[in-house]
Amino acid sequence: MADIIRLLPDHVANQIAAGEVVQRPSSVVKELMENAIDAGATEIQLIIKDGGKTLIQVVDNGKGMSGTDARLSFERHATSKIQKAEDLFNLNTKGFRGEALASIAAIAHVEMLTKTEDDEIGTKIKIEGSKIVTQEVVVAPKGTSMLVKNLFFNIPARRNFLKSDQVEYRHIADEFHRISLAHPQVAFNFYNNGSDVFQLPCTDFRKRIVHIFGRKTDEKLVPVEEETHVVRISGYIQKPEFAKKSRGEQFFFANNRFIKSPYLHHAILGAFEGLIRPGTHPGYFLNLEVDPGTIDINIHPTKTEVKFDDEHTLYAMLKSTVKHSLGQFNVVPALDFEQDQNLDTPYSYKNKQVGIPQVVVDSSFNPFETVKPSKSNSGGGSYSKPKVDGWQNLYVGLENTVDGGASHLEFESEVVNSSIFDGEKELLDHFTTTFQMRKKYIITTIKSGMVVVNQSRAHQRVLYENFLKNITIKEAVSQQLLFPLTLSFSTSEINILKEIKENLCTVGFVFGEITEDGVEISGVPVLVVESEVQMIMEQLISDFQQEVPGDSFSQSDMLAKTLAKTLSVKTGETLDEISQVKLVNDLFACKETTLSPFNKKVYITLTENDIERKFI
Ligand code: ADP
Ligand code: MG
Repeated sequence: MADIIRLLPDHVANQIAAGEVVQRPSSVVKELMENAIDAGATEIQLIIKDGGKTLIQVVDNGKGMSGTDARLSFERHATSKIQKAEDLFNLNTKGFRGEALASIAAIAHVEMLTKTEDDEIGTKIKIEGSKIVTQEVVVAPKGTSMLVKNLFFNIPARRNFLKSDQVEYRHIADEFHRISLAHPQVAFNFYNNGSDVFQLPCTDFRKRIVHIFGRKTDEKLVPVEEETHVVRISGYIQKPEFAKKSRGEQFFFANNRFIKSPYLHHAILGAFEGLIRPGTHPGYFLNLEVDPGTIDINIHPTKTEVKFDDEHTLYAMLKSTVKHSLGQFNVVPALDFEQDQNLDTPYSYKNKQVGIPQVVVDSSFNPFETVKPSKSNSGGGSYSKPKVDGWQNLYVGLENTVDGGASHLEFESEVVNSSIFDGEKELLDHFTTTFQMRKKYIITTIKSGMVVVNQSRAHQRVLYENFLKNITIKEAVSQQLLFPLTLSFSTSEINILKEIKENLCTVGFVFGEITEDGVEISGVPVLVVESEVQMIMEQLISDFQQEVPGDSFSQSDMLAKTLAKTLSVKTGETLDEISQVKLVNDLFACKETTLSPFNKKVYITLTENDIERKFI
């Protein structure tokens, strides 16, 4: 048989390598910016268009390249950063694999303009799909400009795989944050579609964080500092009370390189344990400086996953250092999530005189006698009491003794969330008897048996359909806030808010001025309480950050889902009878009744047959 093994031509090999290095426009941004840093630039500009799909340009004032180097830099495994294998263990540069430029040139149109300090004249090279189109000498300032156009022009499958411009933009912004945070001593400018997103002057780490994430961040930061022979830890953590619903502000840098480390992340979570609310995430910006020989950054082409020699020690040290900072700056707050709020004295009782309860025995009371509930006690009032025949008897005698307070007090803690709907008695017609079980399920009867409804999921379904309807027909009711709220956000969060603003207005939010780090809210949907606005906004931003909807329908859908999730009654909330009935009725008036917006079962039925079978 003839020999069949052949070496791949260079341009094919480069395209394959490109698949690893360049996943999306943000990968190009990362590689080009890192090259600029490695070239010793003190000023770097990033310019992108259409989420980087049509254009990415990085301009630096670094050391530049000679004509020959400029040409060579596009060859695979061409690097000035290492010479021998041992150099791999003493890396101080971002790059070293010599793959990036070759990979980028294989899948895009690239123009490089570069000049060194010593050369009089610079070089311009145009290269398309690994083929050099032109190379000429030109007048140029010191430094390098790399222009990358039409990414994946020769791999349509990859190009089609790219997400919307907004999504790609967001990935680029993330990359920009990471690199500019790792190098506060370098000035950065970032332009997107002609408008200026960031102008970051050369500064220190703390100010860089504040420049990127907004003025309000400053007061949230607590310094972290520790030095041992294994590692120097420095940076900032955010005070626990500012823990967010979104995971956005979590950064580890190892030797000035952004890294991802679920393991070390866990150490931080450990240090914050018990200090932040469940479902929220602590913010941190931490630098780890280790001996370059004790860290392997070569395990992944994008070099964000790294391997430390002594991860266990690092883990323990990180955890105790962060704990120490939290303690030292006295930020361990007096938040106590364990405390049962129901034990707190209700405000209305704060100033009441404490009377000595008198026990009055009702000698005529007979527990075995069925008494019809008296008119005055059935329903009525500002909240409803559980409907159990004869229950009033338990309070006979107490009713008028303690200043009329005792019976109210009994239900005080139950009242808080009781009426989620404006109770309308007529609704009782459909499902006459409802019963709440374990503050989680509502049980009611139907012709064929009984239904057990999950209260939280049912309410999610009802709210979801309502919000979706509001968005579609655009006629939500909003309540004006007496004093507009000003909430602060980072630039990237503000960008997300701007994207979804229109839809937020259709559900009833009213926006005032939106600045680069804050937004004014002057109206909210009827169901939303003022104190929850910040939390809801954070949840929305976080959901949109994690999963970016492709079109406007899915944006509405996601918005409705998030609002439904955040505003629905939860397990553990007591519902009064009217609310129970209304919830069940509303559920069965929905288009879809069986599944929650998150595809979870809303209710189960038990037919009479099912029940009878159990008795066999
Ligand atoms: P690596 O960064 O891994 O060395 P690259 O393919 O990214 O590989 O770059 C190849 C070489 O081109 C670099 O080693 C460097 O010498 C040179 N180079 C790339 N970008 C620049 C730049 N902006 N300024 C100066 N030299 C550069
Ligand atoms: Mg490089």
